[in-house]
Amino acid sequence: MIMNTSVDEIRKLLDAGPRIVITMHRGPDGDAIGSSLAWHHILKLSGIESTVIAPDAYPDFLKWLPGNENILVFESQAEKAKEAVAAADLIFCLDFNAASRMGDLEETITKANKPIVVVDHHQDPSDFANFYYVDSDACSTAQMIFRLSQALDFSGSINREAAYCLYTGLVTDTGSFRYTSVTPEVMRIAAQLMETGIDHTQVYQEVFDSNSEDQVRLRGYAISEKMVVMPEAGAAHISLSEKELQRFNFRKGDTEGLVNVGLSIHGVKVAAFFAERDGIIKISIRSSGDFDVNKFARTHFEGGGHINAAGGRYKGKIEDAISRYETAVKELAQEILKS
Ligand code: 5GP
Ligand code: MN
Repeated sequence: MIMNTSVDEIRKLLDAGPRIVITMHRGPDGDAIGSSLAWHHILKLSGIESTVIAPDAYPDFLKWLPGNENILVFESQAEKAKEAVAAADLIFCLDFNAASRMGDLEETITKANKPIVVVDHHQDPSDFANFYYVDSDACSTAQMIFRLSQALDFSGSINREAAYCLYTGLVTDTGSFRYTSVTPEVMRIAAQLMETGIDHTQVYQEVFDSNSEDQVRLRGYAISEKMVVMPEAGAAHISLSEKELQRFNFRKGDTEGLVNVGLSIHGVKVAAFFAERDGIIKISIRSSGDFDVNKFARTHFEGGGHINAAGGRYKGKIEDAISRYETAVKELAQEILKS
């Protein structure tokens, strides 16, 4: 594995005129879909064809992005996706750094025996690819795609369509330009994207103001009835069972952002969200300050992520996942409270 692949190496790979597959992690978010579609547009303007494959379905609020109609969803279009992988000369893996994060698509990608380039911003990449263009200090994969395009002299190829996709990645992975990962470089990238003529208010409307009534009521229910605050540990959590999600006609993306609600309470430094779906408990964890939820998710929930935003899973009952969390935060209370 070559860490911090030089841009010349990536240029050489692209100069061979390859057929490309771009893929992302399971449960794709705005950065995964945004950076993948942006890379698809940028390559196209440079004369390179690519196919974007998402492992599974993604939220409706990302379906307005230019190029969305070209995405193959492995879960429902496995044959077409497998054909694209078989025909590819080169695979780009965006916004994740461990093969297992591709879910059921993992085998198709890793067994294809094609060169793989990871472009990502998560910590501690595992060894499944040939080339890595990564920076765990970057705010998003969108930022990495912008950097890579500039380094390859493809930046003239960032048209309005690519700009909408990259801007969405920046907005969704930085809490709308709030997190500490936002640097002057990020703001300069945002400015350059705006200069392509995108309507940046449209991005917010599409992403944040296109909720269904059920979604808003589910949020209200989760906060008022299901939030548990543990002031003595500086922690909070919200959980929703499969039954509760069904009651509000849950659709992918409906619980986006709920994990952050606990963090908005004074004195709460770590917050978790538990959702029971398809017999598995999916956990999202967020922190403010220097309490490392990447480490926490790795230790307790077979997961990972970043210092302030991580996720994982638990195979078992939702009550047991919650008590594992409660026990762990109580044990770590001193560390959490001073973070
Ligand atoms: P989210 O809570 O929004 O699903 O994910 C937050 C962060 O944690 C993201 O950066 C995501 O990549 C990472 N993450 C989420 N779930 C998992 C998981 O199951 N395994 C690993 N390694 N990282 C995860
Ligand atoms: Mn990301």
